[in-house]
Amino acid sequence: PNPESARAGRPVILAIGGTDSSGGAGLAADIRTARDHGIAARLTVTAVTAQSDRAVGQVLTMPPALVGEQVALALEDGQVAAVKIGMLSDAAVIAAVAEALRGYTGPIVLDPVIAASSGGLLLSEAGLDALIAVLVPRVTLVTPNLPELAILAARLGVMQPDAAGTADDHTQHATGVSALLTTGVRAVLVKGGHAGGAEAVDTLYRSGEPNPFSLPAPRLNASLRGTGCALASAIACRLADGDALEDACRIAKTYVGGLLAAAASPASR
Ligand code: PLP
Repeated sequence: PNPESARAGRPVILAIGGTDSSGGAGLAADIRTARDHGIAARLTVTAVTAQSDRAVGQVLTMPPALVGEQVALALEDGQVAAVKIGMLSDAAVIAAVAEALRGYTGPIVLDPVIAASSGGLLLSEAGLDALIAVLVPRVTLVTPNLPELAILAARLGVMQPDAAGTADDHTQHATGVSALLTTGVRAVLVKGGHAGGAEAVDTLYRSGEPNPFSLPAPRLNASLRGTGCALASAIACRLADGDALEDACRIAKTYVGGLLAAAASPASR
């Protein structure tokens, strides 16, 4: 039997994304996160990347039909209790994923992966438009960091793309978030780690709920790749376990805080 199916009584998530040959981010981070939550992960590989912590090398995008079939077979037995989406690479893959998820009614967490921390691009220009047109509108939660929020908002015509540096300005934020919510996405978690300050504040905006939900955490002096992947996967794991969105985000943030603290602590080396 499949060992990933053998955790009796535990939910299953589906992680859709790319592989990172350095092992830091992408599906490897999703698998580690699911394991830390005692949850089995099914996988859909959208692209294979050659990467180090300093650069993105070659990227091979999987054939869209292969991507669609991975998703379809993962969902076939109805066990998948939440879906996490990361790197999608291009518009054809996004169309295939959206099509394969059409009948899926569980929660979907979308980490809008555009570039690696090294700067290398992980999504094409056409992919960015497709992401906004066909995927963002039908997911439960999208989890942009400040540069990603600025890029998405610029694409939606409401923010200058170079506003990333100033996007800790709350008015800027709110404008970008409102534009995203207008597409139909249920909630947006803006990750504040790229803003300055002693705290890294994430903010959860929910459709139809005027008051944002603030998730402050002390800024830790650690740089760790794959934290965006881990956060979105941890949220998916908590949602799969039945948490409300606010709780899922809060607890997932604590989980990632633990990863950062371990990376910052000399004892872990
Ligand atoms: N590589 C892949 C396949 C990813 O999915 C992601 C992010 O989601 C990254 C790289 C970027 O990770 P980081 O921002 O930690 O460099």
